[in-house]
Amino acid sequence: MTEPLTIFALSSGAPPAGVAVIRISGPHAFAAVESLTARPLPVPRRAALRELREGQIALDTGLVTLFPAPRSATGEDVAELHVHGGRATVAAILAALGRLPGLRAAEPGEFTRRAFEYGRIDLAEAEGLADLLQAETEVQRRAALAVAGGGLSRQVHAWRRELLEASAKIEAAIDFADEDDVIAWPVVERRQSFDALAAAMSLALETPPAERLRDGLRIVVAGPPNAGKSSLINAIVDREIAIVSPVAGTTRDVIEAPIAVRGLPLIFIDTAGLHDSTGDAVERIGIERARGAMAQADIVLWMGDARDRPQRSAVIQVAAKADLGPAVRDGIPVSSLTGQGIAALIDAVIGEAADLLPRADSLAMNERQRRLVEVSRSAMVAAAAEADAVLVAEHLRCARQAIDRLLGGAGLEEMLDALFGRFCIGK
Ligand code: GDP
Repeated sequence: MTEPLTIFALSSGAPPAGVAVIRISGPHAFAAVESLTARPLPVPRRAALRELREGQIALDTGLVTLFPAPRSATGEDVAELHVHGGRATVAAILAALGRLPGLRAAEPGEFTRRAFEYGRIDLAEAEGLADLLQAETEVQRRAALAVAGGGLSRQVHAWRRELLEASAKIEAAIDFADEDDVIAWPVVERRQSFDALAAAMSLALETPPAERLRDGLRIVVAGPPNAGKSSLINAIVDREIAIVSPVAGTTRDVIEAPIAVRGLPLIFIDTAGLHDSTGDAVERIGIERARGAMAQADIVLWMGDARDRPQRSAVIQVAAKADLGPAVRDGIPVSSLTGQGIAALIDAVIGEAADLLPRADSLAMNERQRRLVEVSRSAMVAAAAEADAVLVAEHLRCARQAIDRLLGGAGLEEMLDALFGRFCIGK
């Protein structure tokens, strides 16, 4: 195996800043520090003040900390330079590092990828970390932290241990079937244990998917033209000042307003304007899109007649333009003009959202993880229904394989590229 190159990057935010943290990871990390400081290396894990130079040229004075492998962020030798966060300072140090033998600039997510490859973190933790770095709201942050901190991994490892034990027991029962009754695993007993594991997995699958929390809950405002849809979204957005940045994939055909309400990421989607277009063909496309948006909505705010209310769950009926008079209409009376009822409407939305989003500290799984847990759960159900010990062993192997893939393992290159590509450089 060829020795991995030593990588380096600015790991803190974009300069200028008070302090910049430059991270170096790999077999040449300490040699690089030695070359820049021309002094004996500091004691591991203790910050030491050092002058950094490249030959005769002074670069900066900063704190140097060494983290020898394997007890480091990546599992390799890691050095951290805390230097002044000016653009020219950071650029000069990065350039000097680039000229050292065996060093190259890190790619996005490469430090975390190495941490995964050296077994410092597993795949589920890496996924949680990616979400943590992208978290914009408080609930997103807490959910991602629970996963990044290994909460999900611990649960999955516990399942894995149970599966390993069960496999060992069933294999023993097969191998010694003729010889020893003591080793035999009574069918009733083993069924109970498989059912229990399948039930635990089912329970975990009941937690709403992590993506809804990561990407925001989609709340489509729908109704006939002039119902007041755009005005309502503006009124809500004006009231909730904390606008978060738009998520990837936001289309221009429907107007999307992502906002954070009480730590929950919500995206209000306006289907207005779609019906306003003249010309049959265009209008048809517009209506199609509005229908598409409704189909993908997590919650629909319906501003039309209650009799035309979409037949689906999570629909909140809104009685718009309440300031125009006490018309007896179904729904929450709201006026975008006066602000009346907006708070009550937001409360209703939050009420619906609570059931659709994972709770702040719950171990929400993403689609990949859910799929694998489902594979494992089905295999356990099959194992519970199977009388033949050899076939039971096979089902258990399937169940374990899925769990192994959840935590990492071979054959994941594509998925890893996609995952670590989500990180920024220096992470
Ligand atoms: P959309 O086509 O459903 O998006 O409806 P708009 O938001 O564009 O509103 C249509 C018309 O109704 C506009 O003239 C708005 O000024 C008016 N409107 C919207 N909301 C209210 C409201 O709460 N009270 C009153 N009086 N007029 C409203």
